Amino acid sequence: MAQNVQKSYTCPVSKVCGGCQWMGESYALQLEKKQRRVEELLKGVCPVIRPIVGMENPCHYRNKVHAAFAEDERGRIISGVYAPGTHRVIPVEKCLLEDERADEVIGVIRKLMDKFRIRPYDEDSGRGLLRHVLIRVGKRTGQMLVVLVIGNSHFPARSAFVQQLVKECPFITSVVVNLNGFKTSMVLGPSSRTVYGKGFIEDELCGKRFAISPQSFYQINHSQTEKLYSLAVHYAQLTGRERLLDAYCGIGTIGLVAADRAGEVIGVELNKDAAEDAVRNARRNHADNARFYQGDAGHFIRGMAARKEHLDVVMMDPPRAGSDEKFLKSVCMLKPERVVYVSCMPETLARDLRYLTKNGYRAVEATPVDMFPHTHHVETVILLSRKDVYERIKFDVNVEDL
Ligand code: SAH
Repeated sequence: MAQNVQKSYTCPVSKVCGGCQWMGESYALQLEKKQRRVEELLKGVCPVIRPIVGMENPCHYRNKVHAAFAEDERGRIISGVYAPGTHRVIPVEKCLLEDERADEVIGVIRKLMDKFRIRPYDEDSGRGLLRHVLIRVGKRTGQMLVVLVIGNSHFPARSAFVQQLVKECPFITSVVVNLNGFKTSMVLGPSSRTVYGKGFIEDELCGKRFAISPQSFYQINHSQTEKLYSLAVHYAQLTGRERLLDAYCGIGTIGLVAADRAGEVIGVELNKDAAEDAVRNARRNHADNARFYQGDAGHFIRGMAARKEHLDVVMMDPPRAGSDEKFLKSVCMLKPERVVYVSCMPETLARDLRYLTKNGYRAVEATPVDMFPHTHHVETVILLSRKDVYERIKFDVNVEDL
C-alpha cells in the first residue's frame, strides 16, 4: 500500500478550520490510531480485526465540496468554511482534501461575483444573494454538478452568470440554483431549479453506474468506497440465491453492487430524493431483481418481521447515530444467516453489536477502512453470523485482491 504512508501534510488553515483534526501527523500514525480505536471499541465483541485499509494517495479525495460565502472586513468576497460553532467564514482557497477542480470553480465564482456585482448573502440583514456553493464530482465519469445556493429569490443576470461560469469551467456538466432564505445551518433549502444540464451527476462504482441528486447521500471518497463495498459484498458471501436487505441504502449503491450475486435485493432509504435515485439506478443497471422503497428502515423491517418474510442477508449502513432497537430487534426476529454492518461511527457500531451478539449473532471479523484521511473519522465493515451457522463461515480475504 501507500508509498506516502510516512509522509505528513500541512495546511495553512487547519488550526482554525477544524475539518482535519489530524493534519500534520504522518499518514502511518493516523492509520495506526484509527486501527487502535476500532480494536479498543470492539474488544471482547469481535474476535478478528483486520488491518485498516488505507489510501494510496490520501489527498483531494472529497468529491463533495461545500463553500460558504461572505465579505471580509474590507468588503472583499471570501469563501470557505464556517469557524467551528459559528457562521463566521474562514477563507479557504485550496484544500488538501477537496477535489482540485471544485476549488478552481469556487475561485471562478468569487471572481464572477465581482464582475456581476453579486454580493454574498448576509443572514442577519437578509441582503445580498449568494450563500453557499455545493459541488459534486463524479470521480470516474468526470461529471460535475454546481449548486448555487441563494438567499433571495431574485438572481439578476442569472443566465449570463451561469453562461460565463460554464465557459470558464467547461468541465461543469450541470448547474442548479437552490433557494435557501431560512435562518438555518442546513446548506440546501427545499426548492431547486436546474439551469444548466441534467440537475444531477452520474458516477461509477464497482462497475455500476449511479445517478446522484444534490440532496442524496453519496460516499465522498470514491476509491476507498470501491474497496469498502467490495469487502462488504465479500462478507455477504452471496451465491446467487439469497434474499438480501440493503438497509439505509442511500441511492442503492451497496444493493446494486451486490445484485448480480444475489437472488433478490430489497432496499430501504428515508431520504425521498435518494430513494428515487435508487429506483432509477436499479433501472439504469438493469437490476430486475432489485426493488427500493422510501421509508424508515426500522419501520420497514418491522413490517417484514410482522409478515414473517424470509431474509438471508441484511446489509446495513446507518448514519453516525447508528441503528435503533426497533430495527435490530426485527433483524433478530427475521434471523438472516448473515448481517454485514457498515459503520461510520465505531462507538454506535459497538453499541449495536452488543445488542446483536446478545440476541443470536456472533461477530466474525471486522475491517476498518480509511474513508476520511487527515480526520479522526473511521469507517468499519463487519460480518456477523447467526450463531447456529457460525461454523460454516470460513474464509480469508486479501483486501488488495478485491
Ligand atoms: N449505503 C449508502 C448510504 C449510507 S449513509 C451508501 O453507501 O451510499 C446512511 C443513509 O441512511 C443516508 O442515505 C440517510 O438518508 C439514510 N437514513 C438515515 N436515517 C434513516 C432511517 N431511519 N431509515 C432509513 N434510512 C435512513
